[in-house]
Amino acid sequence: MRTALYPGSFDPVTYGHMDIMERAIKVFDRLIVTVARDVGSKEPTFTVEERVEMIEACAKQWEEVTVGSFAGLLVDCARACGVHTVIRGLRAVTDFEYEFQMALTNRSLDPDFECIYLMPSKDYTYLSSTMVKEIARLGGDISPFVPPLVEGKLREKFRS
Ligand code: ADP
Repeated sequence: MRTALYPGSFDPVTYGHMDIMERAIKVFDRLIVTVARDVGSKEPTFTVEERVEMIEACAKQWEEVTVGSFAGLLVDCARACGVHTVIRGLRAVTDFEYEFQMALTNRSLDPDFECIYLMPSKDYTYLSSTMVKEIARLGGDISPFVPPLVEGKLREKFRS
């Protein structure tokens, strides 16, 4: 069975992430979406449990998708899952530099590590969780960007 990991912050999950999941399960039999507990130096908007729950609810129509979380190095998470292939989304050239660095760094930590990049629909190439949160914070319409459940959670979070 071909399995891949799809790691990220997913703070929160957007239609862009879901587009990548849908493409990934056309290529892999099983996709493990893994939510990073650590979001660098930033404080995440949602707890890891909230982020996992939102993805579980939004991806429930795909039986190929399971959701978990990880702390520490991605290569260690991949090894623990017995998976060597990681999916990442590429939105624009701006993603490339970071992804290139991450792929080669991870490969130097684990020579078996492989990254596969998928491009979303052109409708989502500009979409990021950060942008959606900013729109929600300022009271704008986020319904084109996130599923209704996530929209509700963002509204609750930013209710003043
Ligand atoms: P990060 O791991 O950089 O914190 P995210 O949680 O935002 O990133 O995203 C996880 C993965 O999903 C990354 O590979 C990112 O490029 C990809 N991604 C995020 N938003 C989109 C989008 N709108 N279209 C395609 N891929 C996306």
